[in-house]
Amino acid sequence: MPQYTAPLRDINFVLKDVLKSDKHFASLATREEVSEDLMDAIISEGAKFSENVLSPLNQPGDQEGCTWSEDGVKTPKGFKEAYQQYAEGGWPSMTANPEFGGQGLPNSLGLVVTEMVSSACWSWGMYTGLSQSAARLLEVYASDELQQTYLGKMTEGTWGGTMCLTESHCGSDLGLLRTKAEANADGSYNVTGTKIFISGGEHDMMENIIHLVLARVEGAPEGTKGISLFVVPKFLPDENGEVGERNGVHCGSIEHKMGIKASATCVMNFDSAKGFLVGEENRGLNAMFHMMNSARLGTALQGLSAGEASFQGALAYAKDRLQMRSLSGPKNPSGPADPLIVHADVRRMLLTQKAFAEGSRAFIYWVAQLVDTFYFAGDEQARKDAEELSELLTPIAKAFVTETGLESANYGMQVFGGHGFISEWGMEQIVRDLRISTLYEGTTGIQALDLLGRKVMGSGGKQLMVFTKIIHRFCKEQQDKPGMAPFVTKLVALNKEWGEITGKLGEKAMANADEVGAASVDYLMYAGYVSLAYMWARMASVALDGDADDVFLKAKVQTANFYYQRILPRTEAHKIAMLNGADSLMDMPEDAFAF
Ligand SMILES: Cc1cc2nc3c(=O)[nH]c(=O)nc-3n(C[C@H](O)[C@H](O)[C@H](O)COP(=O)(O)OP(=O)(O)OC[C@H]3O[C@@H](n4cnc5c(N)ncnc54)[C@H](O)[C@@H]3O)c2cc1C
Repeated sequence: MPQYTAPLRDINFVLKDVLKSDKHFASLATREEVSEDLMDAIISEGAKFSENVLSPLNQPGDQEGCTWSEDGVKTPKGFKEAYQQYAEGGWPSMTANPEFGGQGLPNSLGLVVTEMVSSACWSWGMYTGLSQSAARLLEVYASDELQQTYLGKMTEGTWGGTMCLTESHCGSDLGLLRTKAEANADGSYNVTGTKIFISGGEHDMMENIIHLVLARVEGAPEGTKGISLFVVPKFLPDENGEVGERNGVHCGSIEHKMGIKASATCVMNFDSAKGFLVGEENRGLNAMFHMMNSARLGTALQGLSAGEASFQGALAYAKDRLQMRSLSGPKNPSGPADPLIVHADVRRMLLTQKAFAEGSRAFIYWVAQLVDTFYFAGDEQARKDAEELSELLTPIAKAFVTETGLESANYGMQVFGGHGFISEWGMEQIVRDLRISTLYEGTTGIQALDLLGRKVMGSGGKQLMVFTKIIHRFCKEQQDKPGMAPFVTKLVALNKEWGEITGKLGEKAMANADEVGAASVDYLMYAGYVSLAYMWARMASVALDGDADDVFLKAKVQTANFYYQRILPRTEAHKIAMLNGADSLMDMPEDAFAF
């Protein structure tokens, strides 16, 4: 199993040098101040916890998995103890509202800790990540009374949270959901129905679990317009706010699945369970989108963190394992063969992993800053702009970073040859664990429809222009800077082409709505490659300003070159495919697919 080491130099480079976190934190009027010392301490403690406490749990957790019994779900050995340590360390409260005991630190800083936790042990991190997303939703949408009842315990980490959307007949299409809620005279509701695939629906790490459940109030309109959101606790709080009576919600079973085996994926039965409305009736999806957006960025992080872990394993192996000689003559003449890392094709795989991990880190951290700005900046216009841009970029981050993370995890296995297929090395676990990331929180196909259909076409291209203008401005500023020409020239061309492609697709879609669905995933991947090209150009520009002999900074520019020369040309294939249109997909009659 690869031992995880937090990539602190890169994390600090992205945060401090590229994204100027000091200026960013200072612009957040309603968040606590973050001094550089505090930031360094948080990152270094988060790294130690991830490396020393969580990383050792990853492989045994996969082997043991979760177990279900009538009494509940048991997580693997060590999970609960690690959680106690995490809660005692104050980590659950890091980004929470100080009004409920939180430390009020910016979410973009919390995300750095989440990245390290996720690389070390994704399954463990799911329990904490979902709990924190649930608490953030309640901070924004719940009544004062609900906030007073639940947020203190959730902030200190004694109570966790889940998101309960999916039912057996509805996943992508939540308009079909059937779980129902009947109003009681005291203002509460009785929630009845079955939710499936609920992550952390039942477990032994926290004393209470607060489910956020989508359900339909009797008489509500059909489809997505009739969905409401409820808080349904496992134990109803007593008059002192402590764990009280058991509510009518139980875990019927857990799924046997390909990966993330230490994360309990539960069938949850709600049997007239007492629930409390969050926000207004029939406006539940709006509130849930809040949690989903944060969970989407969290899932994007899975692509990055698994890609990083796989890269670390592959790099160490490629330096150690001796096989054959370099085509250009021996590089390890005193040994029986050369290490794998001398071979061009192995380097192609390693550099692809490096380019995706570091590019995605910069991209996700930037989106997280935009989300901070949207919620907490003092300047109204800055908040509005950040909202628009983060909405556009979230589906790109979620789908592109998980798809390319998966490609990277597969390369990590490939670098190990046949040994990558053997469990002991841990490389196949990374692939298995990561595979879910392109499916849950909205599949790649659903993210792509959201991007092209809702965000880009839905705004008449305006939302896209917010981003292309930023790229345009950056290119103008950088065009004369020594060393930047190869990046700027290509980025300018792609930025222009992106707008042209969008216009052409818009015209096609006017004649045939299926053109949107036919183009959407290619469009999203194109958008992802351009987004990472922008981040790589930003990183290269900062690196070029630094010490020319610094190996880390030189490698940044070299990796940017690799990305532009060897990965970015993929945009051409996506462009051709999406502009070739829907006919080759839609012409075939359903009964002609197979004989
Ligand atoms: C391990 C795991 C953990 C999960 N955790 C949670 C959780 O905590 N809470 C929760 O509520 N859910 C959870 N889920 C559910 C998950 O979010 C859904 O499985 C996912 O949203 C997809 O829904 P589905 O499985 O019903 O697939 P479907 O919606 O049936 O989709 C099947 C395929 O059809 C495609 N498709 C569907 N509609 C369209 C369309 N209009 N256009 C183009 N393509 C389309 C999809 O992209 C997909 O490829 C989890 C699932 C798993 C496996």
